[in-house]
Amino acid sequence: MTAPSTLDEGLADRLRDRLEAGPGGRSLHPIGIGRILIGPGALDRLADEVAAVSSGPIVLLEDATPMLRLGTDLKAAVEKHLGGFADVRREVLTGRDGQLHADDGTLAVARAAVEGAGCVVSVGSGTLTDIAKDACNHRGGTPLVAVQTAVSVNGFSDDMAVILRDGVKRTVPSSWVTTLLIDTEIIRDAPEAMNQAGVGELLAMFTAPADWHLAALVGLDGSYSAGVVDLFRREGDRLLTIAGGVGRRDGDALDELARLMTASGIALGVAGRTAPLSGMEHTVSHMLDMSAGHTGTPVGLHGAQVGVAAVVAAALWERMIATLSAQSLRHVVVVPSVEDLERRVKGAFSDVDPSGTMGAECWSDYAKKLDAWAGAQPSVGELSEQWDDAVSAVRRVLVSPEEMVTALHAAGAPVRFRDLDPPVDPDRARWAVANCHLMRDRFTIADLAFFTGNWNDGDVDEVLDRVADLGGGL
Ligand SMILES: [Zn+2]
Repeated sequence: MTAPSTLDEGLADRLRDRLEAGPGGRSLHPIGIGRILIGPGALDRLADEVAAVSSGPIVLLEDATPMLRLGTDLKAAVEKHLGGFADVRREVLTGRDGQLHADDGTLAVARAAVEGAGCVVSVGSGTLTDIAKDACNHRGGTPLVAVQTAVSVNGFSDDMAVILRDGVKRTVPSSWVTTLLIDTEIIRDAPEAMNQAGVGELLAMFTAPADWHLAALVGLDGSYSAGVVDLFRREGDRLLTIAGGVGRRDGDALDELARLMTASGIALGVAGRTAPLSGMEHTVSHMLDMSAGHTGTPVGLHGAQVGVAAVVAAALWERMIATLSAQSLRHVVVVPSVEDLERRVKGAFSDVDPSGTMGAECWSDYAKKLDAWAGAQPSVGELSEQWDDAVSAVRRVLVSPEEMVTALHAAGAPVRFRDLDPPVDPDRARWAVANCHLMRDRFTIADLAFFTGNWNDGDVDEVLDRVADLGGGL
């Protein structure tokens, strides 16, 4: 995957070839995305790409946010490109409070809007695209041509949608887009915080695959696939090189960011789960979202939060590798009592949600992990025999927290929780880090730290102090 500064139409096929040549894995899905066009002038191909997949009226789905391409109105340009088609209906989705959410009401509006469409064209953010994917999926697979307007999250190129159900974010199965257009001239005109957040989102590739692999090694997740990780991680170190170019809105850097991001989304679709790119750093971000929802604070940009949290996860990985030797792992592993843990999980969320609903929801998910951990002790015993091998394997995806801080700085992205928009105060950030392992059933390095007695208050503070010395953390 080299970086041509001209229009690149081959990414989907290159990834298909790589997946086929790779080691495979249990129950991988085929890459269901049809075509991907990345680079300058991608939008000029819109009419051709629509004509190639459409069999009837076209529905144009947009949000209400004004957007630019080369300084002029993007949405007007999209309509102009579709001017040659006889039947184009335009549907502008607006959120209840001026911010678009993939909630039940909005999903229903979009599903109704695309009825009878021969092709849907979406123009907008990750949320708008997820709504369009859901609507097309609901109609049995209406072709969807998506015009991506920022490189902020990896959801443009996977077959899942993040929706809001009863105020809680859930990832649900959806459709792949048929054709994805990523025009550098549109990406360059996106608010800079969006593409900077994309750098943060992608820092997860230096921690999450290590967590996914760890979960497999301790016997808690049989879905790990080195072939899936290779789809995005083979060129992953390039992110550290191009981060400065993203900060300067350099076209080639943005193209490369888009390719890395698109490959990462495809990997999630192939794996059929978010685990390849969602480990400890994502649980911390989810904790921030949950606490923001409770206090009525606006939720910050997902990728920006993930980037700040990924540095903390990398520092914990570094510390755990240094702390655990093969010998000690066998002796320090603990299986806590169910009663103690139930009290602990529910207690962790009692301030954020005094009604107890959130704590009960998290406990029902966490209890599965605790149960699996208790049952996985033979695998943990085996891991202790092979700890050195395991460390060399995960080191292939990890990078140091220093390098991650440098990349965030170079991109101009937030590095500390207090630098996020809106800022997260140190107490809330520390709460999110210290309790991130309690929110769901996914096994991460924070779980291994906890189950080996290395995640007490003092440990959390030492990790955060280490990150603070690097310029990140609270
Ligand atoms: Zn993410």
